[in-house]
Amino acid sequence: MDKDRCPHVLFFPVPSQGHVNPMIKLAELLALTGFRITFLNSHHNHERLLKFTNMTAHFARYPGFELRAITDGLPLDHPRSGAWFLKMYEEATEMKIKQSLRDMLVNMSTPVDYMIVDGFLGFALDVARELGIPIVYFRTSSPCSFWAYYFIPDMIQAGELPIKGSEDMDRFITTVPGMETYLRCRDLPSLCRATDKEDAYMKLIVKHTRKSPQADALILNTAEELDGAILSQIRTKCPNVYAIGPINAQLNNRLNAKHGESHDHFSNTLWEEDRSCISWLDKQRNRSVVYVSFGSIMSMKREELIEIWYGLVNSKSKFLFVVRPNSVIGKDGEGEDVVKELFDKTKDQGYIVDWAPQEAVLNHAAVGGFLTHSGWNSTLESIIAGVPMICWPYFSDQQLNSRVVSEVWEIGLDMKDVCNRKMVEEMVNDVMVDRKEKFAKSAAEMAKLINESVNVGGSSYSNLDRLIEDIRGMSS
Ligand code: UDP
Repeated sequence: MDKDRCPHVLFFPVPSQGHVNPMIKLAELLALTGFRITFLNSHHNHERLLKFTNMTAHFARYPGFELRAITDGLPLDHPRSGAWFLKMYEEATEMKIKQSLRDMLVNMSTPVDYMIVDGFLGFALDVARELGIPIVYFRTSSPCSFWAYYFIPDMIQAGELPIKGSEDMDRFITTVPGMETYLRCRDLPSLCRATDKEDAYMKLIVKHTRKSPQADALILNTAEELDGAILSQIRTKCPNVYAIGPINAQLNNRLNAKHGESHDHFSNTLWEEDRSCISWLDKQRNRSVVYVSFGSIMSMKREELIEIWYGLVNSKSKFLFVVRPNSVIGKDGEGEDVVKELFDKTKDQGYIVDWAPQEAVLNHAAVGGFLTHSGWNSTLESIIAGVPMICWPYFSDQQLNSRVVSEVWEIGLDMKDVCNRKMVEEMVNDVMVDRKEKFAKSAAEMAKLINESVNVGGSSYSNLDRLIEDIRGMSS
């Protein structure tokens, strides 16, 4: 490569909100250093980002930042609801995406020097190796889940999996190094609940996870101070790990340093944000509101929503509730109807939106607790904002994240596998009233520590600098 040419890095996330978010933030961080970026979104997400965000204008400020669309293998009119993205892994679909990626790379006018690809897009490794491009995997979910996924074959071999029914859920797992003191069957990522050890989804995740050491390095959205113990375990399999998170905080810091506090943020959102909730929060007392949101994928049953709703109402705490369109399972919008009906009854206590500006909400002084599904991005955003969590994990890595939040970091409570109004009321009261100061103190201490990691000289800050230098080195 011409030594005066800046490195050209290609990003390729799995097309869901929780994967695109940290990836596009890292892309912006590299663009800030002057790198040329090509960011691939699925056609479907590309259109939605164009519709709901100022994406084109925002990234136009970085010369050489190109947003491109690529197929996710499905027809454009596919509804893409629920866990639709599993379809991407069907062999024919995967081949289609792989071919498109290859064609795109071969035909780029400026060759790509380095690829940062979602750790769940294993086929990209084959393409990178064929074309001789260095490739790093970015696993956007939690490091602890990565580690648990890695050991699924060992758990099966040791007879610890499959789980033998509901009475077996509190058994401790001993084959995942570093987690022996807190990992129970019920805390394993949800796919481990499959009764069949040949479960297709489980095999798929194991395949992608076990492939990770073949990449040139692994990027994780965490800080050494948060996940140090698990990171040292992961490094025994993947020696070159860049722990550069929380990426949202890292980006905010570097943008502040460059442009001052008034820089504009790119709110990478696949739904239209309802900012009216910020005006509502402005009218509430400090740390008096529970923010309730279950992320971008999960759909809940009508009965679960009703239990959560009444638990909140009975707790007497104020609450801000995100109910994503079509996220309540029920025939012909009957799920959404119940939301409106309940909201009308409790207008004085609660506020409801389709989609919130989550980071701004969590950083608002009125918010004192977060009832969350424990998605990894939501968990990190809550940690950085110093907001204690009540975790109601639904699937994927969330079961494990909630355990770590409650047992290891002690910055929240874990409500997993239970959803009744009494439990919701008790946990909300515990975090918002009874042990309010205790939880607020531990969350504030954790926020301080993790915010320091993304400041100049902090661990995540230095790890990102190392990544930048390594990309320069590998691209020259
Ligand atoms: N999010 C948001 N507004 C909402 C709900 C969620 O902006 O009303 C964002 C949230 O800030 C997070 C992402 O959506 O960055 C959800 O990612 P997470 O990993 O928490 O969960 P997933 O959606 O992958 O289950």
